[in-house]
Amino acid sequence: MKTILLNPGPVTLSNRVRQALLRPDLCHREAEFAELQDTVRTNLVDVYQLSNGDWAAVLLTGSGTAAVEAMLTSVVPNDGHLLIIENGVYGERMTKMAGVHRIPHTSLHHEWGQAIDLVALEKMLGQNSFSHVALVHHETTTGRLNDLESVAGLCKQANVPLLVDGVSSFGAESLKFDEWNIAACAATANKCLHGVPGISFVIARRDQLESANRQPRTVYLDLVHYLQQQDAGSTPFTQSVQCLYALDEALHELNDEGGQPARQKRYWRHMKIIREGMIRNGITALLDESECSCVLQAYNLPKNITYSELHDHLKACGFIIYAGQGDFAKNIFRVSAMGDITDEDMEKFVESVEKITGK
Ligand SMILES: *Cc1c(COP(=O)(O)O)cnc(C)c1O
Repeated sequence: MKTILLNPGPVTLSNRVRQALLRPDLCHREAEFAELQDTVRTNLVDVYQLSNGDWAAVLLTGSGTAAVEAMLTSVVPNDGHLLIIENGVYGERMTKMAGVHRIPHTSLHHEWGQAIDLVALEKMLGQNSFSHVALVHHETTTGRLNDLESVAGLCKQANVPLLVDGVSSFGAESLKFDEWNIAACAATANKCLHGVPGISFVIARRDQLESANRQPRTVYLDLVHYLQQQDAGSTPFTQSVQCLYALDEALHELNDEGGQPARQKRYWRHMKIIREGMIRNGITALLDESECSCVLQAYNLPKNITYSELHDHLKACGFIIYAGQGDFAKNIFRVSAMGDITDEDMEKFVESVEKITGK
């Protein structure tokens, strides 16, 4: 039986992407690697039709967290001041990173699941001079799609560019890089792009990595170093060649499907089948649909069923769901729409839930 991953990455792979892992052995110092790297970098910038002159994709071997940490440490200048918006695990993780790297920062904290307080944000922007505002686009903790457009509007007025954790939205949700004054966006191969874990990347405005007033804060995650080398067809350190093969194929597959808008549409179709199915089974959603991403949504656990009972039952039926984090661990479960899955799979998933809720 095929196992369907409904956790937020790694995803159920298509055969096409899985087969790409078997392409020939390749040294990362050979011309063929440079060509592969160039193609992937160009296709990543093309996902949102960005200009290759102004924007660059920088590839890293590491998970999504590596890309976020590289973005924060490489883009914020030494005399900069970062405002970090928190409303879940991943926003709070950025504050941890800023602390470890001694990046001057202030956090605008919200309880997990809360919407961003735009009044408080406007006030903070008025009282301080920030070099960048960092926030998570889709807060995977709760499935909330943060209102980037409104945040961007306020930040633009204050002339502060955005650093976006787009790890669980890039490739599926709409991202208006130029209009929203995004300086950089961190993402990964193995969520909405349907590649395998191991490669992550940052899409950055080139001018944001060319500031003279910066001293590297890390050796491995210094995006400026990567950018120089990758522009010259090289790479500072060994890249995960096989993961890059898979990402290359996954990007072709995304393109064949109709690009980001088509993927967003497909995810919404999956999400609607699940949401209607859950409601039929008496299971309520954590957030209103209008606040949710198309990528993942969170549901309140039904009374009298623990997370592990639900998880184990669904696993036996061929579906992997995802637990809540922290205080949410006892109360919610999460279901994602990513990966090579179909409407039919979603309907089977709903039927499998029905078997345990007894409706
Ligand atoms: C998955 C995720 C990350 C990074 O997770 P990794 O396990 O390092 O890949 C960061 N931010 C968000 C919003 C995520 O969903």
